Amino acid sequence: MRDYSFGNFLQELRLRTGLTQYQLGILVGVSDKAVSKWENGSSKPKSDILYKLGEVLGVSTDELLSCKYHSCENEDIKGVFAIKKQLWNKALEIMHNRYGEIVPIEILNRFLSEQTEMQNTDMIVYFDFLSVLVSEAKKCGEHIRVKGGVGSSFVAYLLGATEVNPLKPHYYCPDCKTVIFDDSVKSGWDLPYRRCLCTKPMISGGHGIPFEIYRNDVQNNISLTVSVSPEFFSSAKKCAEKYFKEYKTKVEDRDERISIITVTSQWSERRITFFTDDELARYKALEQVTATSFDRLDFNTEDILREFQNGNTDGVTEFKWTFAKNMLDKTTPSSFNDLIQIVGLSHGTGVWHNNADKMIEQGLSVGKTIAYRDDVFNYIQKKMISKGLTDTGFAYKVMEDTRRGIYAKNGVPNDIKMQLKSIGAEDWFLDSMGKIKYLFQKAHGVTYVRSAAILMWYKFYYPTEFNEIML
Ligand SMILES: [Zn+2]
Repeated sequence: MRDYSFGNFLQELRLRTGLTQYQLGILVGVSDKAVSKWENGSSKPKSDILYKLGEVLGVSTDELLSCKYHSCENEDIKGVFAIKKQLWNKALEIMHNRYGEIVPIEILNRFLSEQTEMQNTDMIVYFDFLSVLVSEAKKCGEHIRVKGGVGSSFVAYLLGATEVNPLKPHYYCPDCKTVIFDDSVKSGWDLPYRRCLCTKPMISGGHGIPFEIYRNDVQNNISLTVSVSPEFFSSAKKCAEKYFKEYKTKVEDRDERISIITVTSQWSERRITFFTDDELARYKALEQVTATSFDRLDFNTEDILREFQNGNTDGVTEFKWTFAKNMLDKTTPSSFNDLIQIVGLSHGTGVWHNNADKMIEQGLSVGKTIAYRDDVFNYIQKKMISKGLTDTGFAYKVMEDTRRGIYAKNGVPNDIKMQLKSIGAEDWFLDSMGKIKYLFQKAHGVTYVRSAAILMWYKFYYPTEFNEIML
């Protein structure tokens, strides 16, 4: 009788890594036919190959032979596959709790579009680590700031690794789970108050951040960067060491303010860099003296936006510098999305001076400018969809070449120009793209504007306390 259970287990492991029979064969030094025979149960690998298989597939030889993850049977989870599967299911469950039993197709589609990267890498484990770190920090009344593109992942958002929701702007009802997408704005923070048909107030969010922005980073073992307050610095390091205790970790303290933890597993070598940021300690102080929590206040109101429009930004992170104040003055922001654009414009290279600033003078609104990698991608993708084209490969290529400054260095090649024109890209877009040397990630910009808007809330409602702590 054929032994299928080993074959089925092997196939399950192989599919999860996204390898073909041929690729797996190459990695362990056999033909695809041999792999096929193992999977259909007509033969079994020799013991030296079993060991190699375990290495490639991330399980122990023991697990392979018993056709089970040991980790699933006891509490002590070891197999990275089992952890990844658990985390994926956890994210799925959170998605259903938030968006309903039958999740709108746009949301499900976005979730599944991240599946390949989550299966082929161990990134989801790091998202889980970040969410553990976030809750550790909350317990101590501390704030942390996760930098980079983490908020470009919907899975990261669902797991609680970031507060940035990358879906397109939308409302959802916490009660009856109705979801309404609204593309009249670019940031969910700009959506007006709305009641659900069931009478409950709806919650709005979403920043239209494509996962493609982050795909490359995830595949290339991106490192994580996290800012913490000086007080939370050592707890954060301990949290990382504890979380990754099953892996090999190396802690390097660069000085009292920077520490790098390198985590090596059979899957990757990733670095987590902790920086201290004094400002984060002041957030805690603000919450304490005013007895109001960051998480509970409505910062996306007209009153708060007006303060930004008036340039009343002393002490408000990202907007307190003269450079940013001048930008506020020149751009006349009319929405929270405009504020997000300003942060992107100020963090890029070759993006503002002699680029967006001139275009704004000529009448382009700040909301339309290229301020982020995301803007390049979304612009091209939208044009392509309007032409009935759906492939995102071209948008991805142009976005990557733009953000790396390749066009600024060598000029936009004629074929790219013609291809862009054929989908209806406007001249200003081509001009702007051709000058860019570096572009920021929107997910990172959104976390800054969230902090800035919250600080503005305190400045508006508790000016004395704010001035004492932040100025
Ligand atoms: Zn409802």
